[in-house]
Amino acid sequence: MKLYSPAVIMALKEKHKFRISKSLGQNFLVDQNIINKIIESAEIGEGDLVLEIGAGMGVLTAAAAEKAARVVAVEIDKNLLPVLKDALDGYGNIDIVNGDVLKMDLSELVGRSREGTAAAGAAAAGSGKTVVIGNLPYYITTPAIMKVLEEKMAVERIVVMVQKEVADRIGAKPGTKAYGAITAAINYYCTISVEKDVPRDVFFPRPNVDSAILRLDVRKEPPVSLVDEKAFFACIKAGFGKRRKTLQNALAGLYGLGKQEVGEALQSAAIDPSRRAETLSIEEFAALANSIRHTANSISPACR
Ligand code: SAM
Repeated sequence: MKLYSPAVIMALKEKHKFRISKSLGQNFLVDQNIINKIIESAEIGEGDLVLEIGAGMGVLTAAAAEKAARVVAVEIDKNLLPVLKDALDGYGNIDIVNGDVLKMDLSELVGRSREGTAAAGAAAAGSGKTVVIGNLPYYITTPAIMKVLEEKMAVERIVVMVQKEVADRIGAKPGTKAYGAITAAINYYCTISVEKDVPRDVFFPRPNVDSAILRLDVRKEPPVSLVDEKAFFACIKAGFGKRRKTLQNALAGLYGLGKQEVGEALQSAAIDPSRRAETLSIEEFAALANSIRHTANSISPACR
């Protein structure tokens, strides 16, 4: 069945009495070139397991299933389940899982799919890598990406359609207006590439914003050496939480440190205390976090 035209979507919608939900970010892909570009960028091998976030009517799911050993596709809207069953009939390597991706234990889900137990009668996936794909609902873009990365679930790569503005933010360079906490955090976990800008008319219904395909290759090793990973993220959060303040002011209070102690920690990390978070590279955030942690430990060993 051709899944990639508005007419097919309308026919499935009629047949299953399905209502498109704007609040769940249901803008379905109707352009085969864009579907192909996502699948190509994901570099799916035949032994791989693909985790798809937001299956919708199954266009990406089907394309991924052509390449992968197994696809586990999460979809929150139970009204789409009969549509998916209909559209993906004939594929023996797809598990559709109904639920909210933000509330799932994704490592466990991927593990079950690998063992072939996520759906009754499912075959086990090969021993290849795990790749995450999705045309992400805009309201969960950042939490969904961060959840995959923070769960440290041995994912090789994430290739997702996101709002263009979010892709620009994630791919931003230090010192630019778009650079923010999410840029620094994702840079720690991944190398980032904005693969393609995508116009709004490749979706049905058409959204109000343009999109982009984002590719995140998960690093095998962290790019910086940290004494305490939590301190690194705490510095990013505090720095960008008050991004118009100098780092000395923005970080005061972190680990109970006063402004003067923060100033000293900044200086021993060779960072001018009057700089702002948006100017720091992740190497500088790492030096700052290590220095802040050292200062906090020397003042109050209880912080350890
Ligand atoms: N992959 C399909 C496509 O490209 O046509 C659908 C993409 S649509 C932009 C996003 C899909 O994610 C919708 O089907 C929506 O119901 C689903 N979704 C929204 N929130 C979700 C969540 N928290 N967990 C899982 N799926 C979600």
